[in-house]
Amino acid sequence: MADRDTATGVLGLVQAFVNTVDLQDGPEELAHPNALETWLVAHELMQAGQPVSEADLKHAIAVREAIRAVIGANTGGRVYPLDVATLNEAATASRLRARFSADGKARLEPEAGGVAGAMGRVVAAVFSAMADEGWSRLKLCSSPTCRWVFYDGSRNHSSRWCTMATCGNRQKARRFRERARSIA
Ligand SMILES: [Zn+2]
Repeated sequence: MADRDTATGVLGLVQAFVNTVDLQDGPEELAHPNALETWLVAHELMQAGQPVSEADLKHAIAVREAIRAVIGANTGGRVYPLDVATLNEAATASRLRARFSADGKARLEPEAGGVAGAMGRVVAAVFSAMADEGWSRLKLCSSPTCRWVFYDGSRNHSSRWCTMATCGNRQKARRFRERARSIA
């Protein structure tokens, strides 16, 4: 991944969470509850030593894929009622509240601990990211088998693939094959 494809701040956190799996070639970073714990602790979304169950892992992956769908909407993708329900449930379960800190700035913080709280922080990051002017530049790769999240740093917001070197060329090759078939 080139630097231009990687977002920073809350956008970067959202991008990193959704990209914990490479749908096309693997690996799945969140393959085990322990791996989920490690990821959440490393990104300061949860304190270490809290229990993480298989159900938590399933829930986290559902939240991740709902966020992928919401990012897909930036390029005309469909958001299904299940995606919306998953995100709303994660927000409710974490008991997100508006909190003002000492510097007078407000943010959303979960009252719940554990993975529920961590998912609340992820949803809060999506909430903040959507208010960021860079949100519309967060896109899914146009390759239907890839759907990797990339940050479109191009001047006219016209990038469609995560990296031209791989997915862009793959798409071109497919179109070429299809054209060749239709001519034959
Ligand atoms: Zn791609």
